[in-house]
Amino acid sequence: MNSLNLPFNYNMKNAINANNPKLKSWVEVPVGSDFPIQNLPFGIFKTEYLSPVAGVAIGDHVLDLVYLHENGFLDGLGLPVGVFNQRYLNDFIGLGKKKTREVRERISELLQHDNDELKSNVAAREIALISMSEVEMQLPIRIPNYTDFYSSEEHATNVGTMFRDPKNALLPNWKHLPVGYHGRASSIVVSGTDIHRPKGQIKPLDSEIPLFCPSQKVDFELEMAFITCTDTKLGSSIATKDAEDHIFGFVLFNDWSARDIQNWEYVPLGPFLGKNFGSTISPWIVTLDALQPFRVKGPDQFPQVLPYLVANGEKNFDISLEVLIKPEQSDETTVSRSNFKYMYWNVNQQLAHHTVNGCNVQVGDLYASGTISGPSPGSFGSMLELTWNGQRPMHLADGTERKFINDGDTVVLRGHAEKDGVRIGFGECKGKILPAT
Ligand code: CA
Repeated sequence: MNSLNLPFNYNMKNAINANNPKLKSWVEVPVGSDFPIQNLPFGIFKTEYLSPVAGVAIGDHVLDLVYLHENGFLDGLGLPVGVFNQRYLNDFIGLGKKKTREVRERISELLQHDNDELKSNVAAREIALISMSEVEMQLPIRIPNYTDFYSSEEHATNVGTMFRDPKNALLPNWKHLPVGYHGRASSIVVSGTDIHRPKGQIKPLDSEIPLFCPSQKVDFELEMAFITCTDTKLGSSIATKDAEDHIFGFVLFNDWSARDIQNWEYVPLGPFLGKNFGSTISPWIVTLDALQPFRVKGPDQFPQVLPYLVANGEKNFDISLEVLIKPEQSDETTVSRSNFKYMYWNVNQQLAHHTVNGCNVQVGDLYASGTISGPSPGSFGSMLELTWNGQRPMHLADGTERKFINDGDTVVLRGHAEKDGVRIGFGECKGKILPAT
């Protein structure tokens, strides 16, 4: 437990014992699992017998943190009574990075193959470890605020090319600041929640006036999102070098979009009803701590950014991402493979920019990356780009054609990082589009 007393410092990558690639657990972890002992993501689950409580994923099991806490396995960490016995993780992550890191380190110890505390206590094990097949995952956080950035150069270039001018695809501000907007928190749902096709105003090109009808262009957006774990003071700012002290972890994020509604409404104030009918997140929050080994340098930034946005070094994360579409009656087809490392603006810069004017952040706030498109057509993160606004339809494995998402289609996002034989995954972020009501 030595590392716990060290000063909080992200440059000391090896200070996090739970990330050691050599660690093995006495809990069986199937080959290719997203949840080896080096991951230990946090979530909220319920079962037939348990109301929603906090847990940690390990292999095909969920470790019940309420049971561990109430039965002395987390003694000495100074955790508040009942901190895990809650519908959301806000109070837990609000304890701060130092404390939540200590908890992850302790859980890692308890699960290590040569630790007998829980392993040898058969009665405790049987209660504390619950098969994933028996749990229903819940929204892990109460989300006070949601921001969506637009930080992939490839995505912004594709959209600018399609809708404005290929020669000036990026607007003049794009390389000077991480463009973003304030989204709607109330309609963010957990993976597995169905979404009804939204209705709204659309204006066909050949019509003088708008129509009111179900969207014909429902789309996904492949994104990742980070979650803040502090309450800052209105008027204060977070520097790029301190940003990671405020970030608990990441989830996969599908920012469902109705392109036809969006196209008619978005000038001059930006996205509104084309976006706020639903966004889906994966249920397990993978900690920023667990992602430390997967840091990489981001793209070179030119022109030079203003001093408050300087964030040098390995600030991006090498996380492979994929999108699959599963029609109602047939098998899934992978339609995109991308990577979080392509982001032009990193999370440090996003959070610094977000707060440079004195905007405060809150525990549980969610910040999406913007659609993550890579350089090749197969890595585009939306149907809008993959089919070039429907002009180049794609074919799924079952032979059917897609320009956008059909009723009955389930869209699945997956993501994982892999290095030194360790695979840190995010599980699934999935949602099905139902017919308009
Ligand atoms: Ca988005």
